[in-house]
Amino acid sequence: MSADIVEKLRAAVRDVADFPKKGIVFKDITPVLNDPVLFRASIDLFLERCRGMKIDKIVGIDARGFLFGSAVAYELGVGFVPIRKRGKLPYTTEVAKYSLEYGEAEMEMHIDGIRAGERVVMLDDLLATGGTSAAAAVLIRKTGGHLLEAQFLIELQFLHGRKQLEPTPVASFLKY
Ligand code: AMP
Repeated sequence: MSADIVEKLRAAVRDVADFPKKGIVFKDITPVLNDPVLFRASIDLFLERCRGMKIDKIVGIDARGFLFGSAVAYELGVGFVPIRKRGKLPYTTEVAKYSLEYGEAEMEMHIDGIRAGERVVMLDDLLATGGTSAAAAVLIRKTGGHLLEAQFLIELQFLHGRKQLEPTPVASFLKY
């Protein structure tokens, strides 16, 4: 991926002040989704990173992780597993509590989403404090999945989210 396209992606991410709460600068990725060249480029960043990893499942985190994750799974020809906020999944689930930059919540995954020993890459649009993805990592491990890496389009490095994810390897493409 050229440095130029990465800079274009960075420029397209829109800062929205005080959303969803006062003091939060929300990184809005809808301008990336909206642009056919940038949307494809964002998916390609994940795909390049996944090359050679022998992945069985892509896990996407509610809700923007679904947008990137399903496209990546489709292109890799592997299954996609959603991890959702509590109360959205219809079948039997595993549950993990977490705290995020703006509040507290629980994440859920279907008990049959991942089979023991499957090689999994988890992805989301943004890594902030790491609470959400750390909870997702707990769910993946509970079902016996082998979590190879957590990947994010954006990382807010000043929140040190990757510490929460240790020892899971973390990759991010746009660092702030
Ligand atoms: P965290 O658990 O703090 O790492 O938060 C990560 C989750 O919350 C991801 O699913 C993000 O989409 C969302 N999120 C947290 N902070 C922001 C932010 N400043 N801008 C956009 N999304 C955010």
